[in-house]
Amino acid sequence: MSLSSSVAPSVPVIDLTHLFPLHLTQSGSGGHIDHCHGPVLPMAITRRTVLVGRPNGTSTVRFSTDGGLPDFEFEISPKILEPTHAKATPFWSNYIIGVFAQFPRNIQGLDVVVHSDIPMGGGLSSSAALEVATYTLLEALTGDTSRTAVDKALQCMKAENDWANVPCGCMDQTCSTMGQAGTLLLVDCLTMGITRIPLYHGVCFLVADSGHKHKLEGSEFKNRKDQAADVKAIVRKTFPDVQSHQDITPEMLEAVRKDMPDTTYRIGVHVLTEIKRVHRFAEIMVEIETECSAADSDTHTSDTIEAKLRQAGQLMFEAHNSSANNYCVSTPELNELIEIARKVPGVYGSRLTGGGFGGCTVNMVDKNCVGALEKAIREQYSGNATVFTTEAGEGAKVEQF
Ligand code: ADP
Repeated sequence: MSLSSSVAPSVPVIDLTHLFPLHLTQSGSGGHIDHCHGPVLPMAITRRTVLVGRPNGTSTVRFSTDGGLPDFEFEISPKILEPTHAKATPFWSNYIIGVFAQFPRNIQGLDVVVHSDIPMGGGLSSSAALEVATYTLLEALTGDTSRTAVDKALQCMKAENDWANVPCGCMDQTCSTMGQAGTLLLVDCLTMGITRIPLYHGVCFLVADSGHKHKLEGSEFKNRKDQAADVKAIVRKTFPDVQSHQDITPEMLEAVRKDMPDTTYRIGVHVLTEIKRVHRFAEIMVEIETECSAADSDTHTSDTIEAKLRQAGQLMFEAHNSSANNYCVSTPELNELIEIARKVPGVYGSRLTGGGFGGCTVNMVDKNCVGALEKAIREQYSGNATVFTTEAGEGAKVEQF
């Protein structure tokens, strides 16, 4: 079914600009800091998942997509409140049923069509976009918007955890829900405090898809999460006051290094250094904003701003190194893309984004140098990479036709 053929007057359309885990330092699914209840710094990308839906007067929910996945339908019944643990088919129905199960109000049958230009399984949180778009559609159709944005994001995360069996943290869903043009979202995943961080207008982000998809419902993602939890548990035996990863200092980690396998220690190093990088990246962006306000012209990038962008970019390179060597979630293809980007003038920083094990890199680039980076990737990458540029975009919204 084509998207336009299902649009009728007064049918709500959910326009979701998907979130892009900027993982500038972890960030979310990628930096693996959200599930440690640390800070993350994502931004929404200017790609979207669009849902078009209308009540069909029955108790049957029907979903179809133009993305090549099979259609499915299910009955609205108390059964949908039980987690499916990835057993529903086709697989993508788990995400949808999970969101229906979280929604706080009785829903009637619907016909829904999904269209998206977010690559699936590329670390760009297509699944969170789907969940948040579905939740937003239900809000639009029922008129029930009683949940806060944070609660909505956490419920969409629960749908992914318990229905799709992906043990992700809350970053992707939070950014898909609350992303705002021109800003990064600093999310403290312990308190769910949100701070909007301005993004310098002279840079844009180039996403390079390595062509190797990840699979987060597999065991490796969960292993890393469990090992990160082990770090905290081991530290707490010696330092019982530690409540979260954010309370662990490098000295504490060193003091208990002998009590844990080296792989666990290195995961601890990644988590602690990512937390620091997230905060520092956000600080640098605020410093740049202050510098811009003080400058009498916004048409040039001053030496001070240039130096700060280099510092921020260096944090991205460090984040990638740590993801590759301490957290061990990179791939040879992602590493190759990083090394290509590192040598291109005008590229400030580059890192993998998303959960790793494949997917995409994200590059912070001077707007005037994007072409040079595209050319370098096209000429030097040994695989077939697809690239696109993005700025910081909007989270989910409703458009009435
Ligand atoms: P990503 O990094 O893209 O979020 P995930 O593995 O977490 O990767 O999620 C990808 C899965 O989400 C897909 O395999 C599919 O099941 C589901 N999905 C995402 N977007 C869509 C869509 N537009 N239509 C149908 N299913 C989707």
